[in-house]
Amino acid sequence: MPDKRKVMLIGCGMVGMSYAYALLNQNIVDELVLVDVNKEKAIGEAMDLNHGLAFASSSMKIYAGDYSDAKDTDLIVIAAGVNQKPGESRIDLLSRNTAVFKSIIDPVVEAGFNGIFLIATNPVDIMSEITLKLSGFSPDKVIGSGTTLDSARLRYLVGEKLKVDPRNIHAYVIGEHGESEFVPWSQAHVSTVSLDELKAKHPERSEDLDMSEIEAEVRNSAQKIIAAKKATYYGIGMALVRITKAIFSDENSILTISSLVDGPYGIKGAYLGLPCIVGREGRVKLLELDLTEEEQKKLEKSAAVIKEAFSSVRF
Ligand code: NAD
Repeated sequence: MPDKRKVMLIGCGMVGMSYAYALLNQNIVDELVLVDVNKEKAIGEAMDLNHGLAFASSSMKIYAGDYSDAKDTDLIVIAAGVNQKPGESRIDLLSRNTAVFKSIIDPVVEAGFNGIFLIATNPVDIMSEITLKLSGFSPDKVIGSGTTLDSARLRYLVGEKLKVDPRNIHAYVIGEHGESEFVPWSQAHVSTVSLDELKAKHPERSEDLDMSEIEAEVRNSAQKIIAAKKATYYGIGMALVRITKAIFSDENSILTISSLVDGPYGIKGAYLGLPCIVGREGRVKLLELDLTEEEQKKLEKSAAVIKEAFSSVRF
């Protein structure tokens, strides 16, 4: 791969631009190409970001471009999508977003793009699998934001209850980024101590820790934010930057991205949010957690939900 860290962002809406703004503030990429079906919007966004460069720690090259710029791009982040119309079914929305993705993936692949796809558009697990199918790329190069944001929300909430920095909380939300996602509590740790052990040994420290309440809070937080301000975008923007950083710095960080599960956990052929090692080549390795029987069943249920939705996609 070339040394220049070049990203193409497709979809300059709230999520896309929150990502772009966070990128500008974190000095992670050298070149950012903005693409949107609304070209004028992409041009205006590029101007606005460029005017912040004098105050930024990055010296990025930012411009509005088109799919032909994909050839020497390292990473394509897709946050393009159409919104659900009143009364529209999930499946109809999925068909319209599949058409949007076809209009994106075909030309970037034709332009010679050979890097990594990172998908944010919802339903993110399905849209990532659609990208895999349309691009014909290796599964390690096609990832979605998955439950990265949900895991961050979980760590924040557990940290708040225990009064511990969320960066020292090691816990994941896994499965579908949606209703069937869940927390495998058997795997949750504070520093090196498992939550189960902490609860048993220090009940006074963990009496406020209502696990089912926290899990419900994580699952419902997107809906709560949408009710309050119509959409969620800062958190996902930062989650996308976190994944981008893991890729360009070849960090081999463990993040709950969405990627193809084809064998591990006894699941074949479904995109799911699970802890993966992420580095310069995309997904380096999918980790296999030692789930309890109940957690394994929940994961299988989540995979079934995703497989059913994917089977309704018409290409
Ligand atoms: P938005 O409506 O603000 O932006 C969507 C953008 O996509 C618009 O600028 C639009 O012009 C563009 N677009 C539409 N069709 C296009 C096409 N064919 N080619 C190029 N661009 C096109 O929406 P948003 O709030 O930014 O959300 C974007 C997506 O991110 C949605 O699918 C949303 O559900 C999803 N999202 C995901 C997460 C997550 O955790 N993965 C969190 C929040 C939102």
